[in-house]
Amino acid sequence: QNIRRTVLSNLERAELTTDEAEFSRLMTIAIVGGGPTGVELAGAFADLVHRSLRSNFRRIDTSKLRIILIEGSELILETFDPHQSQYARKRLEKLGVEVRNNTRVTAVRAGALDFKDGTTLEAAAIIWAAGVAASPLTASLGIPLERGGRIKPEADLSVPGHPDIFVAGDLVSMKDIEDKMVPGVAPAAVQMGTHIAKILKSQASGENKRPGFRYFDKGMMAIIGKNYAVVKTDKFELQGFIAWMAWLFVHIAFLIGFRNKLSVLLGWAYAYVVNTPEARIIVYPPASVAPGTPPPTGNS
Ligand SMILES: Cc1cc2nc3c(=O)[nH]c(=O)nc-3n(C[C@H](O)[C@H](O)[C@H](O)COP(=O)(O)OP(=O)(O)OC[C@H]3O[C@@H](n4cnc5c(N)ncnc54)[C@H](O)[C@@H]3O)c2cc1C
Repeated sequence: QNIRRTVLSNLERAELTTDEAEFSRLMTIAIVGGGPTGVELAGAFADLVHRSLRSNFRRIDTSKLRIILIEGSELILETFDPHQSQYARKRLEKLGVEVRNNTRVTAVRAGALDFKDGTTLEAAAIIWAAGVAASPLTASLGIPLERGGRIKPEADLSVPGHPDIFVAGDLVSMKDIEDKMVPGVAPAAVQMGTHIAKILKSQASGENKRPGFRYFDKGMMAIIGKNYAVVKTDKFELQGFIAWMAWLFVHIAFLIGFRNKLSVLLGWAYAYVVNTPEARIIVYPPASVAPGTPPPTGNS
C-alpha cells in the first residue's frame, strides 16, 4: 500500500508541476536489486502504468514513467539459468523497463541514488529489493554474525555455544549437510521449523537425535508482468505463458481452504480481464493524516 501510494501520489504531483527537473524526478521509479522481488515489482509497475493507469491523467503520459531496475552483478535473476535471466531481461525491456546491470548502489538518499562509478540517479520513488537484514535481536547473542546480522548455526540449527537455542528462517545464513547454500525463502523457513520440531520431539521422547539440516529445493519462480514468468526446478525449466500459469497454479494450490482458493481465483480472473481498476486508489492510513489535513486532490 505504501509503495502504491507513493507512486500514485508522485504521478499526481507530476500532473501538476511545471518544473521539468521535478517532473523527471517524479516520473522515475528506481528498484534496487534484480532478484525475483525486483523483477516482479518492475513487471508489476510496467503493467500498472501501461495498462491500468493509461487513461487516468489529462496532461502526463504514464507510459513515459521510467522504471529502472538496478542490479549490482552481471545478470538479473542470477539464481536462475543464464538463458532465463536473458529472457527475463528481454521481457522487461519489452515492457519498457530499463535494466541496468553491473551497477552498484553506494548510497540511498531522499529522492536520489549514488552509484559506485560516481554517477547519481534522481528518483522520487526508490524501492529496495536487494535483501533484508536479520532482526537486531541476533546482536544480543554475543556471537559472531554473518552478513545482514544473520546467524550461522550448527548443522542441527542450534545456535553455536547454545545447544538449547535453535534458529530458523531469515535469521539463518548456512549451507546444509550437502553443502548447498540455504536461500532466504519461505520453503526453507518452513523446512527448518519442521526440522527443529523433530529434534524437540526426539528430545522429549528421550532419544535425543540431532541430525543435520538438509534443504529440499522445490524450485524457483518469478513472474515478469502479466502473462510471462520463469520457473526453474531440479527437473525442468519453463518460461513464458506456461510458466506464468504454473506460478498461478502453485500460488493458489498452497492457499489454505477451498473458499480462499476460490475467492483468489475469481479475484485474479476479474483482475486479468479488467486490468484492476482498484490499483488506482490512493489509500492513506488514518495515523498518517494529521487532523485538519485536506484530502489529496487529483483524479485517482
Ligand atoms: C518483498 C519480499 C518478497 C518475498 N517473496 C518471496 C516469495 O515469493 N517466495 C518465497 O518463498 N519467499 C519470499 N520472500 C522471503 C520470505 O518472506 C521469507 O524467507 C520468510 O518469510 C522467512 O520466514 P521467517 O519465519 O524466518 O520470517 P518472517 O516471515 O519475517 O516472520 C518473522 C516473524 O517474527 C516476528 N518478530 C520479529 N521480531 C520479533 C520479536 N522480537 N519478538 C516477537 N516476534 C518477532 C515478525 O513480526 C514476523 O511475524 C520474500 C521476502 C520479501 C521481503
